[in-house]
Amino acid sequence: MEFTYREILKWGDKREAEVEPLMKKLIKEKFGLTDSDFRGKYLPGTETVKLDKPPMLKPAQLVFLKSIVGSENFRTDDFTRAKFSYGKFYDELLDLRLNRIPDPPDAVVSPNSHDEIVKIIEFCSEEKIPVIPVGGQSSVTGALRAPGGGIALDLTKHLNRIVRLNTVNKTVTVEAGMFGPAFEEELNRHGYTCGHFPQSFEYSTVGGWIAAKGAGQASTGYGKIEDMVVALKVVTPAGVIETKEFPRTAQGWDIFRLFIGSEGTLGVITEATLHMHIYRPKNTSSAAFIFRSFEQAVETMRRMIQSEYGRPHLFRISDPDETDIAFRTSGFDNSIADRFLKMRGFMPGKRSMMFVTVEGEKDYTEFVLRKIKQTAGKSNSMFIGRSPVKKWLAQRYSSAYMRDPLMDIGIMADTLETAVTWENLLRVWSAAHAYVKARPKAFIMIHISHVYENGANLYFTFLTPMEKGNEKSDFAAFHRGLVDTILENGGSISHHHGVGRVLAPWMEGHLGKTSMAVLGAVKRHFDPNNIMNPGGTLGL
Ligand SMILES: Cc1cc2nc3c(=O)[nH]c(=O)nc-3n(C[C@H](O)[C@H](O)[C@H](O)COP(=O)(O)OP(=O)(O)OC[C@H]3O[C@@H](n4cnc5c(N)ncnc54)[C@H](O)[C@@H]3O)c2cc1C
Repeated sequence: MEFTYREILKWGDKREAEVEPLMKKLIKEKFGLTDSDFRGKYLPGTETVKLDKPPMLKPAQLVFLKSIVGSENFRTDDFTRAKFSYGKFYDELLDLRLNRIPDPPDAVVSPNSHDEIVKIIEFCSEEKIPVIPVGGQSSVTGALRAPGGGIALDLTKHLNRIVRLNTVNKTVTVEAGMFGPAFEEELNRHGYTCGHFPQSFEYSTVGGWIAAKGAGQASTGYGKIEDMVVALKVVTPAGVIETKEFPRTAQGWDIFRLFIGSEGTLGVITEATLHMHIYRPKNTSSAAFIFRSFEQAVETMRRMIQSEYGRPHLFRISDPDETDIAFRTSGFDNSIADRFLKMRGFMPGKRSMMFVTVEGEKDYTEFVLRKIKQTAGKSNSMFIGRSPVKKWLAQRYSSAYMRDPLMDIGIMADTLETAVTWENLLRVWSAAHAYVKARPKAFIMIHISHVYENGANLYFTFLTPMEKGNEKSDFAAFHRGLVDTILENGGSISHHHGVGRVLAPWMEGHLGKTSMAVLGAVKRHFDPNNIMNPGGTLGL
């Protein structure tokens, strides 16, 4: 059977999503397109996969690795190597659409167990064979490329089970390659939830969440992944690290924390022990509010999170552009309710929507929501019911499917994100906005979706027509300018996507030379032969 690059590039289960009708109308208007632009596909990536680089492993290496995992778990065919070459960074999708993969791994190896991984890492370290640990491949930072070849270590095929559910400690130990839905379903069956729901939930794994230091959509309540991890089992070239489950210790550094955000550069996470939470969706209370301006919404959000009366779980603000687009694409725009809002001074181009959910015991969720409504009431906002939140939750993962059909009509569509303190937040927001708007025919939607006492994240989605014939360098320059703008104005290099190879050039400037030297020293200790995801990830 022959497979095309398109099979690899699409988000999700090989679905061919279409641009929804209201979104299509908006895109046509914003970019001056017509119906004919939606026929056919620009850079479709429909050629059959054929790699230029043959596998470079020596015959003896091949035989040995195969003997560890079994031949059914050792693949060197072009399509499998191609499939494991990339995550979902925009520039990688462009490569696939251009029918090219410059840096494939030499082989894809799917170990059956932790013990097999120990043997593989020992062997690869001796032989200096690069190893790239691979989870759901939803990385958006170029963290899975194999510039030096080597093996892609697929954790998902066999290491995908819950090992232990400890209801006394309220923790769960899980193999790293388990995907979000299977993990959550199993926990729900026992009355628990993991509390971690990234937009990529359907196609990402527990190991990937930890290695890329991710955040789920309800992180304001449940915490980011680093708040959930209690212990880890990791195979490194320097040996196995297995930390113990304690509530807290004062034994010096928490070694397991070195691996959270390590992006495969230090070792392979094979098992993780995480906190779990009681699953009681029936109690969830929710509310949507509309504010007259983004500034007012941000100020109110800050007061809510700093009040200490309890935290929302999902907590979001869409800026005016994102709010307007949400209204237009949901059909709310110009409805009777919309006209009423406008009469009350909630004007398009200025108004901002806030979503809140609170989870937990019924008394608690009602109490916190009441306090939130009181704070919102003091800021001249309007409570607009629960249904906008419910609608948003119903499509919480599916908006990710829109990027492929947008690229099919020649639209550059990508996201960036940052963490920023409250005192700098509006500065970063307006600078990013101004940067994107300076490009003709470009628009940006920005939201806040992870909130802390001293600040929050900002998440940027930008859309603009591709420069045809020069898609890659045009994107690289535009993307670089946006990252510079975010950092120059006080944003962090990343809040939850990680760094990978894409943001690596900014690492030293961001952290400083001394901190970078610490990362280098840790790397040299665990991985003296530089086999773990080598080639610049994290700037190493
Ligand atoms: C549409 C879309 C939406 C997204 N939304 C979110 C979001 O809401 N929140 C968020 O946090 N992220 C989000 N992401 C980014 C991405 O999903 C996360 O970084 C995720 O945690 C990666 O998990 P994965 O299993 O796909 O890992 P992969 O992409 O396979 O790997 C990511 C990195 O982790 C390393 N790695 C993976 N498994 C292991 C392991 N077992 N041991 C050691 N290293 C390992 C890899 O080498 C690589 O460096 C999104 C991505 C997309 C495409």
